[in-house]
Amino acid sequence: MEVRRTAPVKLAVPDERRDDLHESARQFRHCANRATEFCWSDRSYTECVTANTTARDALYDELREETDLTANLVQEAIRRGVQAVKGCVERWKSGKRVSQPEFTSWSMLYDKRSATFYRNKVSLSTVNGRVECAFELPSDSPTPYERYVLSEEFEFRASTLQYDAVDDEFYFHITTRKYDSEGDDEPSEVSEDTEHQTVLGIDLGVNSLAVASTGRFWHGDDYDHWCREFEERRGEMQQRGTQAAHNALLRLGKREKAWRKQYIHTVANEIVTEAVEHECDVIVFEELTDIRERLPHAKWHHVWAFRRLFEYVEYKAPERGVSVEQVKPNHTSQRCSRTDCGFTHEDNRQGEVFCCQKCGYEVNADYNAAKNIGTRYGRKRQHRLRSSPKSGTETHQ
Ligand SMILES: [Zn+2]
Repeated sequence: MEVRRTAPVKLAVPDERRDDLHESARQFRHCANRATEFCWSDRSYTECVTANTTARDALYDELREETDLTANLVQEAIRRGVQAVKGCVERWKSGKRVSQPEFTSWSMLYDKRSATFYRNKVSLSTVNGRVECAFELPSDSPTPYERYVLSEEFEFRASTLQYDAVDDEFYFHITTRKYDSEGDDEPSEVSEDTEHQTVLGIDLGVNSLAVASTGRFWHGDDYDHWCREFEERRGEMQQRGTQAAHNALLRLGKREKAWRKQYIHTVANEIVTEAVEHECDVIVFEELTDIRERLPHAKWHHVWAFRRLFEYVEYKAPERGVSVEQVKPNHTSQRCSRTDCGFTHEDNRQGEVFCCQKCGYEVNADYNAAKNIGTRYGRKRQHRLRSSPKSGTETHQ
């Protein structure tokens, strides 16, 4: 089982270099949009280009000429454009209305070569040479370098640089992954399961913030950690009760809100990317009504996170050709997700572990639920297709 983690870290960008980052992001967006333009055809999806190498071979030299970006940034931007078109083509194939994707948001992808980590800072490629940005962290926490880059457990993947226009800050979202040795048999099981290939089921839970039916986990333990940290500091300031403490409290509240939003944005982006990478044309969540009753152990910050996460995915996914649906939460955590079983019983779920009382299938409980969510939607869709022979074509007369 593949486990990925993302840590959003605020960067201290030297004042005189902020414009370099803004300009880099603008050029990155330009490259990504040039790639979608090149790959897209309004006539037919068979005329769209979905191979990264084809787009890169055609555009790389031109884009290096047109921009001041480094080789790796240009390549990442092209890749992003191709991925977006690929997502739209999948939707198109299934009869949905699509149009050429366009990038408008401030976001850049850094790989190992365009971002170099040091103990307290990261050095980033820009249109104007490298810029060194210190990590802004509480003094007692391990730095991202210690936690993710030096870690033997996790492998550094890539990072996204984002800019929050509201608080005028830059955030670096560091992504790492590891393979869980205990779950070695699971990825193969996922890939054999063709039923899930076009539907990405997402379970929102307490054990993990979100789990996908592909076996990808967003643990959210960083999220919990920082929420507790903020809570503790709030408590200390409230006890002091001075005007200065009151003002500091307000500032802290603003920072916390911005930080949480950034975190959820990252997870939302990753869920959409997971769908695109696995060629899913639909992301399916459970309906969030009554979530407090259904998840009595969810803390207030979880309930807030679930709602935001759904909202963000709902507006980000269509940009990449993926739609978002909801299904009724109906025993998804108690049902065995094995296609040939499906036995449903409340004893099947034992905390974090799902263990089918009938066939003995034992697996992470949230992952089991995510698969059921995907299956439920898949069945609903098949049923609809069978019962309406004209589905897929929209005729207006
Ligand atoms: Zn079973």
